[in-house]
Amino acid sequence: MKRCIEVADIRECCQAWRRRGLSIALVPTMGFFHDGHLALMRRAKTLADRVVVSLFVNPIQFGPKEDLASYPRDLERDSALAAAAGVDALFIPTVSAMYGDGFETKVVLGALGQGLCGASRPGHFDGVATVVTKLFHIVAPDVAVFGEKDFQQLAIIRRMVADLDFNLRIVSQPIVRESDGLAMSSRNTYLTTEERQAATCLYRALVLAKTMAQRDERPTAAAIERTVRDSIEENAGFTVEYATVVDRASLAPAAKIDENCLLALAVRVGGRVRLIDNAPLFG
Ligand code: AMP
Repeated sequence: MKRCIEVADIRECCQAWRRRGLSIALVPTMGFFHDGHLALMRRAKTLADRVVVSLFVNPIQFGPKEDLASYPRDLERDSALAAAAGVDALFIPTVSAMYGDGFETKVVLGALGQGLCGASRPGHFDGVATVVTKLFHIVAPDVAVFGEKDFQQLAIIRRMVADLDFNLRIVSQPIVRESDGLAMSSRNTYLTTEERQAATCLYRALVLAKTMAQRDERPTAAAIERTVRDSIEENAGFTVEYATVVDRASLAPAAKIDENCLLALAVRVGGRVRLIDNAPLFG
């Protein structure tokens, strides 16, 4: 597996592959790999001749009080895992390689970036869209793979690709969970042992919401949201930031419960850790 730090190096590597007629899949990540990331990489291998994984903790998508400095990192372990997953090139740029002196141009999103996670993380999705745009230009992939765990990010990237005429396909990968249901996340390492045990309440709340939605007499979105919030907040230190039934394409709050609905959750644990999860209410 090739490791590239400079933009020029990964660009040259990808151009050489394209000259040989090889297709390229890109998996953007912030590293500290778990099985969720590895599932994306394995999926990417089925979609193209070569797989590029970017590993970049993107400072412009973190707010001033967020966990940029403490975000978990382990480059050597990540590198070994990516190589074992069959990745062809790992792109690990420095911050100055991505945002050189005088950098000031950003992708600015519309409504899709404002609600849900965007409401408590102003500017977050503009930062995501900007770095993903740069990665798309640098690697020029035929296909890029994103996880459904970050369903709002996925919807935003799909919208951006359509709106700005990027010439690539977006493929999504279902959420990979721990055996007790907790969605895998690099941020799970922030949880104490007790919090980690209690954190299964997010998954149990999603299952509860599904059961409610599928009853003969359909509940209102508000009733589902209230039940989910109460079941999570029974756990000491767990505060629901949002528990919202949305239309899975527009991300707008659902007017009625139907097959297009998704329950989206963001939960703060112990005031320090923020977990997100989601599940469709049907299927
Ligand atoms: P991150 O490194 O957290 O920015 O995530 C990189 C990519 O992996 C994103 O497309 C995420 O949606 C995806 N991802 C993270 N966790 C999971 C998971 N548990 N299951 C599936 N995809 C995931």
